[in-house]
Amino acid sequence: MALNLAKSAEAFAEAKQYMPGGVNSPVRSYRSVDCDPPFIAKAKGSKIYDIDGNEYIDYVGSWGPMVIGHAHEAVVKALQKAVELGTSYGAPTLLETELAKRVKHLMPSIEMIRMVNSGTEATMSALRLARGFTGREKIVKFIGCYHGHHDSLLVKAGSGMATFGVPDSPGVPKSVAENTITVPYNDVEAIRKVMAESGKEIAAIIVEPVAGNMGLVLPKQGYLKELRVLTEEAGALLIFDEVMCGFRASLGGAQAAYGIVPDLTCLGKIIGGGLPVAAYGGRKDIMLQISPAGPVYQAGTLSGNPLAMTAGIETLKIMTAIPEDGQPDYSRVLTLKTKKLLLGLQVEAKKAGLKLQFHQAGSMFGIFFNENPVYDYETAAASDAEAFKVYFKSMLEQGIYLAPSPFETAFMSGAHSDADIEKTIQAAAIAFAKVAAM
Ligand code: PMP
Repeated sequence: MALNLAKSAEAFAEAKQYMPGGVNSPVRSYRSVDCDPPFIAKAKGSKIYDIDGNEYIDYVGSWGPMVIGHAHEAVVKALQKAVELGTSYGAPTLLETELAKRVKHLMPSIEMIRMVNSGTEATMSALRLARGFTGREKIVKFIGCYHGHHDSLLVKAGSGMATFGVPDSPGVPKSVAENTITVPYNDVEAIRKVMAESGKEIAAIIVEPVAGNMGLVLPKQGYLKELRVLTEEAGALLIFDEVMCGFRASLGGAQAAYGIVPDLTCLGKIIGGGLPVAAYGGRKDIMLQISPAGPVYQAGTLSGNPLAMTAGIETLKIMTAIPEDGQPDYSRVLTLKTKKLLLGLQVEAKKAGLKLQFHQAGSMFGIFFNENPVYDYETAAASDAEAFKVYFKSMLEQGIYLAPSPFETAFMSGAHSDADIEKTIQAAAIAFAKVAAM
């Protein structure tokens, strides 16, 4: 079945005349999979529809936020009501405190929070705060972890940079990048060495506690605990970037799943329910350093925007609703659905004679076209990119919408049905057979 993308191709050609690469964020361009991207017209539940009239089962979910499905009735209704009241005031509202309380309830380490507009802003501000609080300048990040596109963290980042094979971006001042120490993920000896040598100069270690930007890579047993111990010993802060894995690795995020209390946490995606929201928060004594309570400056015209707060509140309300007697809660249902899909994919891969790596963390999942275990950027990058391309294109042709890169994670939503999962497994059987025949 050949996919008709004629209108999308035309739209893409026009968009390229007005926007670099035709897109507002690089991976959307599909350049890494050598085809034109479908232009999206609408989305509902588990499905996304392009301007050519094709329907897809969506496992991108706007790169994570759409955990309750697209255009959920409760979110749409709440937003319709909210929009009548004005779209932005730049003044305090009750909605901000409500969302703050809901987040704190799910992640008690977040004693205080500051809302911002993107994950990039959240990690950028959390780093400034860590530097302001400790009076130190150096930070540690892990190779293949992506924390947004600001200067300090755009160093050996995963995600789009890995997709396009750009280890470092031009335009990041050397003087800034010099303060960023990069270490392989999951390598206890490497981080111990760095902390032994430079621990007293380090303001913070920032980590994706479940890494979703080099494909999905899970922390080895005891690894996060080691980061907690090392930061405490050095007087450095531990920042969990849960922009992606927050409310997905478990309802309380990776910190609940692995039982680690970070000093600061960055959130995004789900807390905005598909509108532009992110946040950073954590220990009260640290957060009180933020202006106007303290001297570390950070601000935002649209921060805490009422529409965005509304969408976030409604999303968390649905995720935390008490289930009927004997039924699993929302996040457990998501985990079970994801498990069901992955098991089906595993069976089909085996039937096709492929040995692949399957990873899951709650409602996040990923496949590596790699016979060997994947636990860091190097092992992730050793996966077969050509095999991924064949798999990706076959899935797209069969109406399964995945991220167009082997360095991204897939997301399950509450709207995905058993029929969706079954259809996806059947499509994968065909895609895996194509890969096996390469
Ligand atoms: N941190 C993580 C873990 C992310 O996955 C992302 C984006 N995918 C970001 C930060 C940056 O978020 P944003 O794209 O909203 O700036």
